[in-house]
Amino acid sequence: MSDVLDLACELIRRRSVTPDDAGCQALLAERLRRAGFRIEHLRHGEVDNLWAVHGDGVPTLAFLGHTDVVPSGPEAVWHSPPFEPVVRLCDHPDRENQKAAIHDRTLHLYGRGAADMKGAVAAMAVALERFVAAHPRHDGRVALLLTSDEEGPANLDGVRKVAEGFRARGERIDWCVVGEPSAKATLGDLIRVGRRGSLSGTLVVRGVQGHVAYPEKALNPIHAFAPALAALAAERWDEGNADFPPTSFQVSNLNAGTGANNVIPGELTALINFRYCTASRAEDLRARTEAILRRHGLDFVLEWNLSGEPFLTPPGGRLRDAVVGVCRDLRGMEPEQSTGGGTSDGRFIAPLGAEVVELGPVNATIHKVDECVDVAELERLPALYEAICERLLAS
Ligand SMILES: [Zn+2]
Repeated sequence: MSDVLDLACELIRRRSVTPDDAGCQALLAERLRRAGFRIEHLRHGEVDNLWAVHGDGVPTLAFLGHTDVVPSGPEAVWHSPPFEPVVRLCDHPDRENQKAAIHDRTLHLYGRGAADMKGAVAAMAVALERFVAAHPRHDGRVALLLTSDEEGPANLDGVRKVAEGFRARGERIDWCVVGEPSAKATLGDLIRVGRRGSLSGTLVVRGVQGHVAYPEKALNPIHAFAPALAALAAERWDEGNADFPPTSFQVSNLNAGTGANNVIPGELTALINFRYCTASRAEDLRARTEAILRRHGLDFVLEWNLSGEPFLTPPGGRLRDAVVGVCRDLRGMEPEQSTGGGTSDGRFIAPLGAEVVELGPVNATIHKVDECVDVAELERLPALYEAICERLLAS
């Protein structure tokens, strides 16, 4: 069994359902300490974070990952228990993807977190061990940053909190490689070079409750909100730009009513979300939303939550060039350079001034029953991460 496969299995065996690290970071810290890394455990609340550094001075190349996983769902539905890693022929091809049919004859590692993202975390650790063994006096610093709070809903005590601490103490990161599963059909076919921002709002529209037979004595917040909603849904927030699609506005929940059909409700609640690009600023989206609501004469309260600003690592940056070059030279492919998908913890590192690029395994089964990763691709991943270190830090 290869080193990276073995380590990935060790991690999957630890039942680290978010935000529980379940000993994953202790295992990785011990390995990296033996390889000469300086280890710092940054525990916030019930969240474990690990910062392991090798070398001194500038620049700093950091790998970023998470040890927590999403819950398995009903274990009986899995072909093999989610926290008992198993290597077997793929019996769960992605039928929507023709190319995935070839997975039928390839070995896959099964287990919760195999693809998201214990496989990549194992690959990062192995790559770092190999790199510092081959280049004990490399330029600057290489580092690994891990959290056990990436998959959770709050995301408060993980990389967000670590990044605040780094900013306060002047800890610098120049380049950050995130190992989130980025690939579509095969390792190296897609890298992420940025992410859209996410801005949420909880809107309460106030009316006056009353009897449906006496509407003149009530104010129906559903009727009042409907034209405003139509205007919000039709609004063109921006045109996008060369790197991002246009900003999108969605209502994810809409609630009103007392349960009785003869009562006009007193208020309406809507949850809204913007996935926005670098062509718009959060404060402008907020102001424009509120202006539309006011224009429709609504009595409302709107509470905003900015969960991540958009970021972009522009072309021509050394990290982006290095990652593209590694995909080209080691995988023989020109990776698609995307800003799509959800958010990632890279959003907390980018504002520190770091270039951020995401390169990881195929994401077809993440968060699903029978999550798996192609063993051959997992075994190639350390060489990719090591080559990125070589291109940026080998002297
Ligand atoms: Zn993940």
